[in-house]
Amino acid sequence: MVNEQLLSRDIVDARTLAAMSEVPRHCFVDDAMRAKAYGDHPLPIGAGQTISQPYIVAYMTQALLLQGDEKVLEIGTGSGYQAAVLSRLCRKVYTVERVNSLLAGARKVFDQLRYYNIRSKLDDGTLGWPDHGPYDAIIVTAGGPEIPEPLIAQLADPGRLIMPIGDRQVQELKLLIKKEGQTEIISLAGVRFVDLVGEYGWRG
Ligand code: SAH
Repeated sequence: MVNEQLLSRDIVDARTLAAMSEVPRHCFVDDAMRAKAYGDHPLPIGAGQTISQPYIVAYMTQALLLQGDEKVLEIGTGSGYQAAVLSRLCRKVYTVERVNSLLAGARKVFDQLRYYNIRSKLDDGTLGWPDHGPYDAIIVTAGGPEIPEPLIAQLADPGRLIMPIGDRQVQELKLLIKKEGQTEIISLAGVRFVDLVGEYGWRG
């Protein structure tokens, strides 16, 4: 997976590549999907949701430029795979999911793999997780119409936030960079994510 799907494209950050090698992706999918866990595509994880293609996970992770001491907030825990990759690259991951069954499944895998620097909660993640902010990096793994205001407020300065923005069919990955009181937004790649549903996302 790392050689064919990541190194051959534009994933060059050594720490990101190491984390992608280390985290056992098959642990985050159902038994029926295990044989396909390392394929170059997204996979269903139940409740109508998907775990992103490995390349997209690596791409979004790399864009955060994590050095090891950061506090990172993820919105959309899903299977827990993205949070697990992040947990190898920073000090602490906070992750929020709105579907209880998915969160329960992810927590089980975090425990099984002893990824103890991940904290998670069931909530509308478009509101962020104010108690533990500000965050050095924020990653939203579901697509919305705009970057939720509470997330921008909970992002540290300096800080980086990555999120798919667009309509409910296609989106563009946007990287928001906060630095010296200014924010800049860069468009990266075209992507397809499931809906971010919540107060500052899509309704229902
Ligand atoms: N990062 C996940 C991908 C999950 S797909 C992984 O590695 O597997 C996107 C997830 O976002 C879904 O599980 C969906 O239920 C969740 N989601 C959608 N809107 C949300 C919201 N407002 N708050 C928290 N989670 C949300």
